[in-house]
Amino acid sequence: MIYLDYSATTPVTYDVLESYNKATRDYMGNANSLHALGVKSKVLLNSATKQICELLNINEDELVITSGATESNNTALKGIALANCKKGKHIVVSKLEHPSIYSICEFLESMGFEISYVNNDSEGLIDFEDLKKQVREDTILVSICAVNSELGVRQPLKTLRQIIKKENPNTIFHSDITQAIGKVPVNLHDVDAASMSGHKIFGPKGIGLLYKNEKVKIVPLIHGTGKFNELRSGTPPLPLIVALSKALRIALTDLERKEGLVAKLNEKVCKDLEKYPDIKINKTKYSIPHILSVSLMDIKPETFVHALEEDEVYIGTNTACASGELSSSVMAVYGDKVRATTTIRISISHVTTNEEISKFLNLFAINYNKLKNLMKEN
Ligand code: PMP
Repeated sequence: MIYLDYSATTPVTYDVLESYNKATRDYMGNANSLHALGVKSKVLLNSATKQICELLNINEDELVITSGATESNNTALKGIALANCKKGKHIVVSKLEHPSIYSICEFLESMGFEISYVNNDSEGLIDFEDLKKQVREDTILVSICAVNSELGVRQPLKTLRQIIKKENPNTIFHSDITQAIGKVPVNLHDVDAASMSGHKIFGPKGIGLLYKNEKVKIVPLIHGTGKFNELRSGTPPLPLIVALSKALRIALTDLERKEGLVAKLNEKVCKDLEKYPDIKINKTKYSIPHILSVSLMDIKPETFVHALEEDEVYIGTNTACASGELSSSVMAVYGDKVRATTTIRISISHVTTNEEISKFLNLFAINYNKLKNLMKEN
């Protein structure tokens, strides 16, 4: 099998799974219980959350454990909107966000909030002048992803923060860092709040986190007994939290070297795909090498994905969460509908090998040429 859909999800690293298994086996007590089993679990919980905070360079009261980035985005956007609606009802997002952000915006619009979409340039970079114009006195929140999930465009969070805060120091800056963390360096102090997910960094599915600095007020989405965290009630999923801390530690180790490996593989793919005159590579100068979007133009992406699957090669369409739909990100950058409806996403990781890429390119050629010939015959 050749797996090139690492931006959709990643396999759990062996050591991460072992730490999950051990915590499940040896720490069955509820960390909220008063007895010895509960205390034993609480000790492990405290050490895992402490490690997560140290790795992210944040305080423990700035961490909210969630079920994944979708929940983190919901908690951030809805929670901030509800907590700040007396100050204003205006929210700004980019045109390069994950579909979960747009769904939340639609909901907030139906609740009377006003959503504005900031422009980007032809390389996908946020238009600084437009951002300046969009931030108003009643703008309570700006949400811009650190790395876009389709084109891999990386935004300069620090600069964006400076622009936002200059226009309105009270505006909260949230970033969905799900596709950035573990791939490129992220400084959480460049934002006020950030969402991420465990399963994108070789951790388990069903766990994520929300960072929010002490100034950010959030109304919780989930009410109950909030012993572990007042913003997210319920029994803490100890094995998942332990596994997340392990996955995060591994993901943040050796980042530069791992990025270098991925960059070489990305170049190899691009160089090869350039030989197809009808294919367009949707790569801008701000794209990180882990995410490569390609428009097939005259072949349906789902047809191609299924053809490759027959050879046990797994790639994605625009994003796993919006498969088969028009890619809003390709549209926002290239403004071309055909290009935006025929995208495949090849996502590479540091565990991808040169040999896998060679085999992939070979199978790409065979399947692509087969489909092109079929089209000619019809
Ligand atoms: N944000 C981004 C940028 C993503 O890529 C994804 C996953 N496709 C999500 C949010 C949703 O993450 P989860 O599956 O953990 O809910």
